[in-house]
Amino acid sequence: MRRVTDHGGGVWSVPVPIPDNPLGHTLVHVLETDHGPVLIDTGWDDPASFDALADGLAVCGTSMPEIHGVLITHHHPDHHGLSGRVREASGAWIAMHPADTAVVRRTRTAPQAAWLDYLIGKLSDAGAPEDHLAPLRAARASGRGRALPGLRAALPDREIVPGELVDLAGRRLRAIWTPGHTPGHVCLHLEEEHPAQHPGRGGRLFSGDHLLPEITPHIGLYEDPDDAAVTDPLGDYLDSLERIARLAPAEVLPAHQYAFADAAGRVGELLSHHAARLASLRELIAAHPLTPWQVAEAMEWNRPWEHIPYGSRNIAVSEAEAHLRRLVKLGLAEPVAGTRPVAYAAV
Ligand SMILES: [Zn+2]
Ligand SMILES: [Zn+2]
Repeated sequence: MRRVTDHGGGVWSVPVPIPDNPLGHTLVHVLETDHGPVLIDTGWDDPASFDALADGLAVCGTSMPEIHGVLITHHHPDHHGLSGRVREASGAWIAMHPADTAVVRRTRTAPQAAWLDYLIGKLSDAGAPEDHLAPLRAARASGRGRALPGLRAALPDREIVPGELVDLAGRRLRAIWTPGHTPGHVCLHLEEEHPAQHPGRGGRLFSGDHLLPEITPHIGLYEDPDDAAVTDPLGDYLDSLERIARLAPAEVLPAHQYAFADAAGRVGELLSHHAARLASLRELIAAHPLTPWQVAEAMEWNRPWEHIPYGSRNIAVSEAEAHLRRLVKLGLAEPVAGTRPVAYAAV
């Protein structure tokens, strides 16, 4: 069992378990302010996770009712899941970037049928075979299907405004918009001297899922059924990485795994990872045009395609498509006219 870490200078991390997930924990950060403790992310919505958070707060010398506010790095359920329960128990405000608040609002109100229609359409446009689509079509026809995890997600009360200091008594915490992993992902930069005087230009960065020491965050599509604009989440992500490298924080406090010092070094690794992935993908479509589904099948994953579970295949296709869009934006690939599902070729 991971334990609460005192990072010094009124900052702690509390590991909050994510049930049945190889990631294990979300590190919920506790930041002391003159108006009471503020949480950065809250963890997965599960009674045992809520108890773990409450126990962790006690170790930090505080308690759930004392919580003054909640800052959310992004809307994913392992970060925003418990926010509603924390607000109920404490009266705390919840703040989020508006682009992710829009996702929360959409997920709460979207009827399941409309969501399934969107998913089926998107997957079939990407070239998914009929046997992959069949279970979704069956769920659509029966009116049943798995409940979406974000249905009960809390609507935030406040906006996190990029570039501005968050209104916190006695602390200097600046919001840095880092879209890519989600459209409204933010990192929060604590512009105060490092308590152990670590070198680096300064401060500590709460990096959410944007920058993790050993995990490459998933970069897929933003999945907005109402927005026909072709976004470039991978391009956004790579730009956001460079933004963080320029910031040069003395220490990074991520939402999973562990704190680390060399932000620029880690950014470099991630940039070369994606550059290599883009290059090998371009090679794939230089041989002959492929649909996003075929690209996903041919890309390298952490296990062979046949062993990738159903739900993860949807995520993989979305990631393949994000890479294709980047290549198109860079002028290195093009959709082949008249193909349906659309196939992409190197140019
Ligand atoms: Zn995430
Ligand atoms: Zn996460």
